[in-house]
Amino acid sequence: MNHRNPDTWTPEFAREIERVREYVATLHAELPRWGLVVWTAGNVSQRVRGAAEDGSQDLLVIKPSGVSYDDLSPEAMVVCDLDGNLVLGEGSPSSDTAAHAYVYRHMSEVGGVVHTHSTYATAWAARGEEIPCVLTMMGDEFGGSVPVGPFALIGDDSIGRGIVDTLRESRSPAVLMRNHGPFTIGRDARAAVKAAVMVEEVAKTVHVARAGGPLVPIEQYHIDSLYDRYQNVYGQH
Ligand SMILES: [Zn+2]
Repeated sequence: MNHRNPDTWTPEFAREIERVREYVATLHAELPRWGLVVWTAGNVSQRVRGAAEDGSQDLLVIKPSGVSYDDLSPEAMVVCDLDGNLVLGEGSPSSDTAAHAYVYRHMSEVGGVVHTHSTYATAWAARGEEIPCVLTMMGDEFGGSVPVGPFALIGDDSIGRGIVDTLRESRSPAVLMRNHGPFTIGRDARAAVKAAVMVEEVAKTVHVARAGGPLVPIEQYHIDSLYDRYQNVYGQH
């Protein structure tokens, strides 16, 4: 089986691709539902693991470029290899595909990536300011502050590299790319969508809090115990 050629796929792999196209199409509806996107901006992708242990035969499923959120059916989702080349689907992949693919190539544990220009998170990105950890839910979800990534232009690997370099230094599944907006990661696309919703929520709350007065930081050992409990104990029963 050549993962880049759909004609050679096993029936099981072809079914898995269809399942993920459906899943990613459904998850795209969450972005307008939570008010994270306008027009055709924003995208969700999920990795499809191939046969090779090293991930060299993995694919990704992502939104096509410039298609309205009302038209995002499973069939509209495009399948690309991890170099961003189109493997299956109509139309061109999202212009952010190279950034998603870079993340999958360099972070083997990541199964889902989301990008939006959600208002409050993007406002922090416009200031190049990290969101300080002043809420217990930030300790839970992000394990600390939400970091800022470098300024990067679309067209080469610099956005993907900025995301990976920043997130490797942090427990946060969200990075605010400077002057641009949030990118989030997760073990699958749903977890990355959750992180995109949560980063907008905390960006808004901390913005409102600071407008009313100085922020009160949370001690690091409290952040550590919040993160540990939420990631390892909470929700597993
Ligand atoms: Zn963008």
